[in-house]
Amino acid sequence: MRDNDCLFCKIIAGDIPSAKVYEDEYVFAFRDINPQAPVHILVVPKEHIRCADDINGENSAYVAHCFEAIAKIAKAEGLKDGYRVVNNCGEYGGQTVMHLHFHIIGGTKLSEKII
Ligand code: AMP
Ligand code: ZN
Repeated sequence: MRDNDCLFCKIIAGDIPSAKVYEDEYVFAFRDINPQAPVHILVVPKEHIRCADDINGENSAYVAHCFEAIAKIAKAEGLKDGYRVVNNCGEYGGQTVMHLHFHIIGGTKLSEKII
């Protein structure tokens, strides 16, 4: 379901342009407008799930499809030596767009270790 005030819902609908890299029935993926690495792609479910806290038995198929898409996108982008997948959740997690999304960050050896 779409939230008319949501930036990523508008991107999924094509109302706001994006550099799309992948799309299927459940998932939309596009390049981050402010890349933090040579490859920086956002993978978003086509369902408006606000954040990781709102994942449940009703909508988790969207999340599973996001991770299937991540594996496909990483191969297509040539990230054979690895990459990082990041999800920011809520205010303290640094989430700025309240539509669940996974950052694929790669294309270089990442130095900063958060975990
Ligand atoms: P987060 O801080 O985890 O919520 O990530 C939101 C991300 O969305 C940031 O990395 C932004 O650079 C990115 N972003 C914001 N607006 C756009 C846009 N119109 N197209 C692509 N990426 C965007
Ligand atoms: Zn949304």
